[in-house]
Amino acid sequence: MIPVSVYKGKDVALFGLGRTGISAAKALTAGGARVHAWDDNEVTREKAEAEGLTVSDINKMDWQKFSALVLSPGVPFKYPEPHRVVKMAQMVGVPVVGDMELFARAVAELPTHARPKIIGITGTNGKSTTTSLIGHILNKAGRDVRVGGNIGVGVLDLKAMNANSIYVLELSSYQLDLIDSLRCDVAVFLNVSPDHLDRHGGMQGYVAAKSRIFRNQTQADTAVIGVDDMRTQILCTRLAAENTRRVCPVSADMALGRGVSVLDGVLTDSLSGHAEASVDLSSARALPGQHNHQNAAAAYAACQALGLDASEIVDGLNTFPGLEHRLESVGMVGEVAFVNDSKATNAQAAEQALRAYPNAFWIAGGRAKDDGIDALEPHFENISKAYLIGDSMKEFSEVMKGKAKTQNCQTLDVAVTAAYRDALESGIKNPVILFSPACASFDQFKDFEARGHAFKNEVHAIQMDAKKKTKIA
Ligand code: ADP
Repeated sequence: MIPVSVYKGKDVALFGLGRTGISAAKALTAGGARVHAWDDNEVTREKAEAEGLTVSDINKMDWQKFSALVLSPGVPFKYPEPHRVVKMAQMVGVPVVGDMELFARAVAELPTHARPKIIGITGTNGKSTTTSLIGHILNKAGRDVRVGGNIGVGVLDLKAMNANSIYVLELSSYQLDLIDSLRCDVAVFLNVSPDHLDRHGGMQGYVAAKSRIFRNQTQADTAVIGVDDMRTQILCTRLAAENTRRVCPVSADMALGRGVSVLDGVLTDSLSGHAEASVDLSSARALPGQHNHQNAAAAYAACQALGLDASEIVDGLNTFPGLEHRLESVGMVGEVAFVNDSKATNAQAAEQALRAYPNAFWIAGGRAKDDGIDALEPHFENISKAYLIGDSMKEFSEVMKGKAKTQNCQTLDVAVTAAYRDALESGIKNPVILFSPACASFDQFKDFEARGHAFKNEVHAIQMDAKKKTKIA
């Protein structure tokens, strides 16, 4: 745990007792603050009490005495409208902060020579993959690395800091909305496309929240920016013009005169202005597809900024085991391969999967995002067939009408069985069944993890069945 002593001897209100709320309450208490923690949900409050926290109803307290309101990132800060507690804080001028800001303040309390390095990663898609990849490369190169934030362990639950430690932190737009003094030695912004717009008052607000990752950076720091979409290109040009930090563009779509690019699976480092290193990514088994090449290019640039040499980075890229639910190879039954991409909760993520496996037997659907799957239309003609499930089934079936073969399956088990049967009968060499929903999971599952496990259970059942049949034969 990282104790936070900036509010030592002071009263702090804390709202939202999920994972980050509980760890923030513990870190503040360990740092000597008097924490008044609350959540509107009774079950959540009981869970927090079971973890040893004292809960107190901050709605009934005098807000003048609070030095800060620590807000969980899941609680609306600005849009669709500020939560009641945010309004209460703002009325009496109490600053609102998140767990990342508490971490930043704990770092700032240390003398400069004792501060750890911080690498922050954001973007609409690829945050978790790139965060884990950077963590893996640094770990493999023998660095003292801690990976967390919006992935796995909350930042304040990570191991305590020392001067040699490197914190690799996934940062969501919600978390970035609640930071003020965080300064990333290396800030990575991968890409941006419409997502969570209700929480940011539209696209402009969403991009602005994500851009906060570059706040407080100085000449000694590095901004790594994926320049494969128009909005990040504009941002990159703006940051370069500001000339207040080192800017490293990365691309998986075009050759860059100065930057890191991946074309046809070959990564080229031209950060110095001429090509320094060339790396064939075909040995990086867990990073298939153009989108993963963007992640690899960003990880390369980030690790290079921390002083790793090319061979250390390549070693890490080649040995990265990959992440569960992101184009995860689940296994084969005979010639048929199954790929679990349950984390593809929007069309942009699913598009990457359809690019990586163009002729797939594609299982999709769930709770659709605002822009549905219209953006995937160019890929429809390539897919072998689509198996549609969930709330979006009828909508997607309409969108695909006359453009691809589809089957309304409603549930995942029906879809997997139908796709497997069709794949077997298709005569296609090495057919791939791709589960990349392009939707949120909440209509039928608790979350994308539960949805991915459900898919893997179906695959497992088919594998067991196939084994039994082989034995009998
Ligand atoms: P995040 O943490 O940002 O949600 P993940 O690494 O968990 O990102 O990947 C989420 C989904 O997005 C997966 O389906 C994955 O295949 C896809 N994806 C991963 N990296 C990228 C990228 N750079 N661009 C677009 N899609 C990506």
